Amino acid sequence: MPLSQVTLSPSAICSSPRKLMFEEVLIPQEVREAAARANVANDARQIRDGKADPALAGRFWPLAAKLYPGYEDVKEPEVQIPLLYQRLPVGCNVACTGCYTSADTWRAKETHLNYPETVDVVRQAADLGCRVVKLIGDGELGLVRKLPDFVHEAKKFGVDTIICTNALRDAPPMRGALDAGARLYIKHWAESAELMDSMTKPRGKGYEFETGKLGPAPRLLYEYFERAPDRVGVQVAFDDRNMRDAMNIIARLRNTLPVYAEPFIETQTDPAIRVVSTKSCVHEPPYTAWATTVGSSGELCPGSFVDNNAFSIRESGLLEGLNTAFTQRADFFNARYVRSKEGCYCATHESNGTQELLPGTQLVTLGVNEVRQQ
Ligand code: SF4
Repeated sequence: MPLSQVTLSPSAICSSPRKLMFEEVLIPQEVREAAARANVANDARQIRDGKADPALAGRFWPLAAKLYPGYEDVKEPEVQIPLLYQRLPVGCNVACTGCYTSADTWRAKETHLNYPETVDVVRQAADLGCRVVKLIGDGELGLVRKLPDFVHEAKKFGVDTIICTNALRDAPPMRGALDAGARLYIKHWAESAELMDSMTKPRGKGYEFETGKLGPAPRLLYEYFERAPDRVGVQVAFDDRNMRDAMNIIARLRNTLPVYAEPFIETQTDPAIRVVSTKSCVHEPPYTAWATTVGSSGELCPGSFVDNNAFSIRESGLLEGLNTAFTQRADFFNARYVRSKEGCYCATHESNGTQELLPGTQLVTLGVNEVRQQ
C-alpha cells in the first residue's frame, strides 16, 4: 500500500498502557494545574493593579474563567514555573531538516549567556518553584563541557535536569551528566542508520546502529540505557519519511522506556501527505500556563521554542519578565489564553491537528500524544 493511503489510528498505537514521560513523573498533573491557577491569578492581580495592556485586560476575564476555573480561589497569587525549558548556546554535529534552532548556521554570539549566567537562570527559576530544567539546546548538548557541572548546580537548587541529545557520538560531558543524575531523551527516529542519517544529516561519520531488545537503534541508546536504565528515554519525531519506523519504535518502547514523541512540523517531503498527531482532551493546561522557555541569550520565548518575538530578561530578571509578559504582550497572552470555540484548550489542540487540509491532501494520523495513563 502506498504511504499516502496509510492511516494509523490512535488506537493502533495507543492501545497498550504507556509509560509516563519524565516530566509527568517529576511534575505531577496536580502540580502543573496548581501552578497554572497561580499564574492566572497573578495575571488577574496585574490587571487589577492597572499594569496590563488594556486591550488584553478586556479579553482576560471571560477567557480566564472558562479556561482556568478555580483561579479566583488562589489566596496568594504568585508566578510558578515547575518546568523550565532552557536552551544552551552550542553548535551541532548534525543538521536535521526540522531544526528550530538553525543549528546549521549557528555561531557564538556576544549576547549568549555564559555558564554562570545560565546557572543563575536556574536559580531564579528555583525561586519560582522550578522542579525540572529541560535542556533543549541550540545544538548538541553533549558538546557542552560543563554539562555535568550544570546538573550538579541545578541539583543544589533542588532542580532535576532532563537533557535532549542526538547521541550521534559518545561524549564525556553527556556521560558525566548522566552519571550526575540527569535524565536523557535520545533521538530515535528510524530503524536503520541510513534513514536516521538522511533525516539528521550528520557532519562526518553517520550513526552506528545496533540491534537488541529495542530493535535496531542507535548504539549509544543501548549504551546509555545500560548505564542508567531508569533515566534514559527516547524522543521520536516523525514525518512522512519515517512514519512506519516511528510506529514500530513507539510500539516496541512502550513497555520498556519512557517515550516522548513529537511531530516534525513543516518538514514534509511529500506535499500530498500531511502528518498530524492527535491529542485526546485531557483538560491539561497548555505548557505556557505552568512552564517557560528561556533562550540561549536569556530571552523569554512566547509559547514556543522559537525566538520570534522573544524578549530579554537579562536586565529585568525572570520574575519581572514573567510578571509582565502575559498581560502586556499579545503573543504571550494568546499562548496562555488559547482561544477556543468550545471554551477548552484541549479542543483547540485537537482541532489544530485536523484543520487546513488542502484539496487532494492525504491525512495521516499518528496518535502518539495521548498524555494520561488510564
Ligand atoms: S540535533 Fe537538535 S539542534 Fe541539532 S540539528 Fe537536530 S534538531 Fe537541531
